[in-house]
This record gives sequence, structure tokens and C-alpha cells, in this order.
Amino acid sequence: MKRVVITGCGFAGMTAARILARYREETQVIVIDKNVDMNFLPLLPDIIGRGFSPFFLAFPIREISKKYRFSFIQDEVKSIDMQRKLVAFLGGKDIFYDYAILTCGSETNFYGNAEIQTHAFKLDDTRDALKILRSVESGVFNTFLISGGGYTGIEIATAIRRKLDTIGGKQRIIIVERAPLILGALPEWMRTYVLRNLKLMNIEVLTDTVIDKVESGRVSFSGGASFEKAMLVWTAGVKIPDIVHDGKINKNPQGRIYTDEYLRIGDHCFATGDAALVSSGSSFLRMGVQFSLYEGACAADNVIRSIRGRKLRKYTPYDLGYIIPMANNRSCGSIMGMCLKGRLPTFLHYCMCIYRSVGLKNKLGLFKSLLGWK
Ligand SMILES: Cc1cc2nc3c(=O)[nH]c(=O)nc-3n(C[C@H](O)[C@H](O)[C@H](O)COP(=O)(O)OP(=O)(O)OC[C@H]3O[C@@H](n4cnc5c(N)ncnc54)[C@H](O)[C@@H]3O)c2cc1C
Repeated sequence: MKRVVITGCGFAGMTAARILARYREETQVIVIDKNVDMNFLPLLPDIIGRGFSPFFLAFPIREISKKYRFSFIQDEVKSIDMQRKLVAFLGGKDIFYDYAILTCGSETNFYGNAEIQTHAFKLDDTRDALKILRSVESGVFNTFLISGGGYTGIEIATAIRRKLDTIGGKQRIIIVERAPLILGALPEWMRTYVLRNLKLMNIEVLTDTVIDKVESGRVSFSGGASFEKAMLVWTAGVKIPDIVHDGKINKNPQGRIYTDEYLRIGDHCFATGDAALVSSGSSFLRMGVQFSLYEGACAADNVIRSIRGRKLRKYTPYDLGYIIPMANNRSCGSIMGMCLKGRLPTFLHYCMCIYRSVGLKNKLGLFKSLLGWK
């Protein structure tokens, strides 16, 4: 019986655990997650914009572990020692493993700025989404500043506008981006479409702008402008929890760990999902649910192959595409090479999310929320 320790129960970790738990005679599967719930991250902005209940987006890991029959420890992993094959967690207890799968995802990066971390809002889980929602509803803030013109920043800005529209709020919403462009890596047509839609939703975009100082209710830019009664949502980057320290592994500046073609980062250790930097042709895979799911499945398969002494399976990524969902239903994206705009990508986004949600109760709950049924 080989012990497999999975560090994080998000999309990748849950998939790996469910697959490995089928091989009960060969494996003992232990999942460690710092949270009690697995959060369905792609729909967090909908808690703010569409009033989705967090109840349908946070799945109790203990219940899932009972259903699929793997062990669950709720604790924060401090480190993985690949030489000693040991996972250390905050509770002080260490666990030895035969195989480990690193699936700890990513989290908001404040780049070490304690001031921003104290005063800004973030969106990493359902609790964060509820905090933003309550603050928007409170009417205390005159301006909503969203730092970072990437997917998440745009989704949050449009969700806040949708919420304000339903309660009659006319506050300013400004996306603040330090680069000269928002969505810099995306094609020109998509940027143009998003900018036009943001204008339609009365959301301003300030590029080449750096947030300099954040105090309680006051945000200042490096150029001198400052906003009173302003709420800042920080979406200017993510990082990987720093739990693997080994001279032999390579990480990119976000802390994503380079894997080999079998998703290994060491002899008995695999990395998947946001935490893994997996090559695809001449570049690397972006972070996204589809890759986390397939990589979680491939790592689980390779653990079983390793145990049985068989040849490992190469991970072959298949990219279905991506969508930028915007809360007025005018989304855009590229799906299997097709450029899509308007209601169709919005529809596809929610179909995919409901399909990938866990359990019939949550799927039905999300479907009803989307139709506006209480
Ligand atoms: C607001 C938002 C919207 C998004 N929208 C989309 C979208 O529309 N489409 C899309 O494809 N992707 C989207 N993403 C990205 C997508 O959610 C991630 O790529 C995906 O969740 C990564 O899966 P994962 O399994 O690697 O990590 P996660 O799902 O993040 O799971 C990681 C798990 O590890 C746990 N963990 C972290 N550190 C530790 C530790 N030290 N010890 C123990 N446990 C730990 C966490 O609690 C968590 O449960 C979005 C992300 C966000 C935040």
C-alpha cells in the first residue's frame, strides 16, 4: 500500500484524489487543504454581480472525502521536503509519503506591500466575494478602484457595476493598470471589444497608472491623484504558495514550478494546476480550470503507473480556449479557434461552470440562480 499525499483540494487536487481513491488496494490517499471547503473560483464574481449564493460555490471537502473515500486533513501545508519525502503542516505533524502531488493553486500577490494587503480587498474565495458584496451594498464608498486590467479585474468591475445598477448606485468604477494596455497578451479585437463594453457599462480604464498609497478609505496614485471614500480591489497578480524548497527545482517569478512532460518535479513528486508550469509547444499553459482538471487526472494516472512499474504517460495538453465573462452578458473569447462575442460565450461559460460544479444539488442551485429563481 503506497501513501499518496495531495496538497490542496481545488480542481486539480480533487480530480487526482477521486481517481486515486478508486485504487484502494494499492493506495492510501490523504488530501490536505487549509480550508474546509473547495471553492468554485470562476463563479466568485457572480456572488457580487448576480447574487449567486456562496452555498452553491463552496463544497465541503469532508463530505466529498467520505463519498469518494479518501482521507482529509484540514491544515495548512508549510513545506514539502522531496529528499525525505515528507510533508510538514502547520499543526506540527509531519507525514511521510510515497508519492506527493502539489495542487495548492495560486493566491493574490500583494508583492510584500503590507499596506495594500491590510486595506485592499481580494477575491480568493467565497468569503472574500461576500466581503466585497457587503461593501458595495453598504453605500459607504464613492469610488471602486480595481487594480489590474486582467481577466479577474474586468470580471469584478463588471460584476460591481451590475450590482450597483440593481440598487441604484451611480458610483465610479475605475480599472487601474500599470501597463500601457489592459489584457496585454490578448488579440487586438478582444481588447477593443472589452474596452467598448466597459465604456458601455460606464467603467473607466486608467492605464500607465500606479497605485502608490492605500489607507483606510483613501487611495492615491503615483501621479498625485487621490480618491476619498474609495474601495480598492487588488487583482494585480497571483503567486503560488511557497512550499517546495529544493535547489533542483525551477520556478518562474510567480512561483509556478516547471514540470517535465509527465508532470513530475522530482522522483516521487508531481505538480499540477496553477502551481505547475507546463510547457505547450513554444510557450507554457496559462492558469485555467481545464488544465487543472486534466493535469490532476494525468498525475493520478502516473502515480498508479509508477506504483505498478509501468511507463509513465506524457501529458498532452488540449486547449479548448478561454472566455472573458462580463456581467452585462456581452462576453468574448476564443473557443476551439473561433472568435466569439456577446451572449453565446456568456452562455458557454455558464454551461461549462454548471457542468464542472460538484454534485446535483449545486448544479441545480446554480442553474436556478442564473435564471433568477430564488
Ligand atoms: C475570480 C476568479 C475567476 C476565475 N475565472 C476562471 C474562468 O472563468 N475560467 C478558468 O478556466 N479559470 C478561471 N479562474 C482560474 C481557475 O479558477 C484556476 O486556474 C483553478 O482554480 C486552479 O485550480 P487548482 O486546482 O490549481 O487550484 P485551486 O482551485 O486554487 O485550489 C487550490 C487549493 O489548495 C489549497 N491550498 C493552497 N495553499 C495551501 C496550503 N499551503 N496548504 C493546504 N492547502 C492549500 C486552497 O485552499 C485550495 O483549496 C479564475 C480564478 C479566479 C480567482
